[in-house]
Amino acid sequence: MEKREKRPNTLYLVVPCYNEEEVLPKTAQVMQDKLDRLTADRKVSSQSKIMFVNDGSRDATWNLIHGLCGQNPVFCGLSFSRNYGHQSAILAGMMAARAHADMVVTIDADLQQDIEALDRFLVCYQEGCEIVYGVRNDRNTDGFFKKTTANIFYGLMHLMGCNVMSNHADYRLLSKRALDALAEYQEVNLFLRGLIPTMGFQSDVVYFDVKEREAGSSKYTFGKMLTLATDGITSMSTRPIQLITCMGFAVVLFSFIMIIYCLVDWAFGNNIPGYTTSLIISLLMGGLTIFSLGIVGEYVGKIYLETKARPRYIVESFVWKEAKEKTKNSDNSVPFNRSGKDGLTEQKDENA
Ligand code: UDP
Ligand code: MG
Repeated sequence: MEKREKRPNTLYLVVPCYNEEEVLPKTAQVMQDKLDRLTADRKVSSQSKIMFVNDGSRDATWNLIHGLCGQNPVFCGLSFSRNYGHQSAILAGMMAARAHADMVVTIDADLQQDIEALDRFLVCYQEGCEIVYGVRNDRNTDGFFKKTTANIFYGLMHLMGCNVMSNHADYRLLSKRALDALAEYQEVNLFLRGLIPTMGFQSDVVYFDVKEREAGSSKYTFGKMLTLATDGITSMSTRPIQLITCMGFAVVLFSFIMIIYCLVDWAFGNNIPGYTTSLIISLLMGGLTIFSLGIVGEYVGKIYLETKARPRYIVESFVWKEAKEKTKNSDNSVPFNRSGKDGLTEQKDENA
């Protein structure tokens, strides 16, 4: 592995936020302090920023982000026109940061993921890694329900042949090179934890402790977890289809045995109406057919969505404050109009 040149690189922290008004002021303070220390230690450049992605929050989250951006150019933010989900929020943040950053770290807004692990992420980056995965040490802070569903999820993913790292959520570092590669992926059904390992690249793992949520409650409802799990399996693996084929084969075999049994029974003169047998068979067949159709339908649905090639998210507005000194990218890479108000730049997207 080739070590990187020793110079402070520009880091962007990408923070997805959905109804996080309770925790955001604390999060902003903690992240800013951390970035200040990293800058003072010359581990990252002074152009580094914290980018909040407002995922269609219905509370004061976007107002808070706006306020923070006005106060300090270290903060910037973008806001979705509606709730697109965690995966889309981090992708949008990473893609927006790509033009400015040497590396991006995605981290949750609730301070559960230990921000002090950033130093070790940076060491791995300096060693030459393009991707660094944050993996939690244990699940002690999770309740019984979360722990069980997470274990079932990872078990199922492995069974289905998906290359996911157990206990790695979306706390990870991507270098500019990895971000450029990720931008080539055009799929709509996003499951970054499965997608990113398929890109290859030199990578490493950093273990961290998970803390209690600083404030507010989990934004991952059961419905959202189920969607993530279904997207994870169906966007990464075709093994469910193979399982249907196996199941179909087993049912056909079973039917043959039943046919032979019925014929022998008939030959020996046991000509009973056979009501129960036929009922069981037709029920079984009906059930299996519908179940199989359902799974195949899942894939057809995905193909349908992919062929439509809808945008994966729509950025409604973007806020940014130029630092006093001119940045190396400041002349050409901010893709929106400039307004003098508060020194803040904001553009509403016409498509939103
Ligand atoms: N999140 C998001 N969109 C959503 C749900 C969650 O951007 O639709 C963000 C949320 O604000 C947080 C991160 O995703 O920063 C992880 O969510 P949370 O901490 O609620 O999940 P948990 O830790 O309970 O799994
Ligand atoms: Mg959390």
